[in-house]
Amino acid sequence: MTGFEFGSATHAGKVRRSNQDQLLANDLMFAVADGMGGHMGGEVASAIAVDALAVAATVDTIDDLIERVEEINTEIINRGRLEPELRGMGTTVTILTNLQQSRPDRLGIANVGDSRLYRVVDDGLYQHTEDHSLVESLVRDGHLTRSEAAVHPQRNIVTRALGIDERVLVDAWELVPVVGDRYLLCSDGLFNEVHEDEIHEILTSTGPAQEAADELVERSVATGGRDNITVIVVDINAADPVDEVPNDRVTATRKALEHGDVTVEQPVADAPDGEPADPQPDEMRFDTVPTILSWRAMAVVVAVVVVVAVLLMAIFA
Ligand code: MG
Repeated sequence: MTGFEFGSATHAGKVRRSNQDQLLANDLMFAVADGMGGHMGGEVASAIAVDALAVAATVDTIDDLIERVEEINTEIINRGRLEPELRGMGTTVTILTNLQQSRPDRLGIANVGDSRLYRVVDDGLYQHTEDHSLVESLVRDGHLTRSEAAVHPQRNIVTRALGIDERVLVDAWELVPVVGDRYLLCSDGLFNEVHEDEIHEILTSTGPAQEAADELVERSVATGGRDNITVIVVDINAADPVDEVPNDRVTATRKALEHGDVTVEQPVADAPDGEPADPQPDEMRFDTVPTILSWRAMAVVVAVVVVVAVLLMAIFA
């Protein structure tokens, strides 16, 4: 049976009046949800996600975990239909959990959006999840470098979230738990403020998980605190013995990236109505990544058509 020691912390930051991040941390499951949407939408969406996971309590396999996330997506959409003022709300979700039916023990990860799960390794942080964000798509396609993405003004724009589209693509992994491993779940309010090297330094220099969690949030608020910040630090302190451990800990993967990101037309506001405008220009989260790319593609098509037309006129004139 895998045993955990964990600590968590969350803070509204210095700019937002409310905290739309929510977290779940108990002996079986850890989750971070970063809500977005006008009025109270963001808070409601992230609360639906975390409450549903808390009630569910145990998960048997990663496929069950994916199903659980899909059900939460439907629940958020249905709530938005019942309460028009909540329409358009959404949330990210990143989950780390014990898989109950695995022998030997396995952990399950599921992710939608741009919250992250890291594992502390000797020389830095290993990011298990992939961000479903505009900048990540641009990095993947070679249009941005990693360091450009880290400071890009539109780095808050997500390409996948729960509550936006009836068909949600969930990335999931199954991992080997190893005693001594330290994991970090966090919302973007942490890694957009604090450099990964500094996060690594805090995670390796602080002892108990709760101390590390408090220190990370404090550092993020002190650095800028422009967004809500949520972190959960999880230490594996007991696990079934295993003969061989893969370096990345991964024993199974269910990833939807190859199917492309879900795209919808609707922008999702990332600040409740009535709150002061956020100083960052990236306050709106749009789920329309390919729009930019398709305009580029269209420009190329138009250019080709013009060239061909000119050539034909030259030949037949
Ligand atoms: Mg955030």
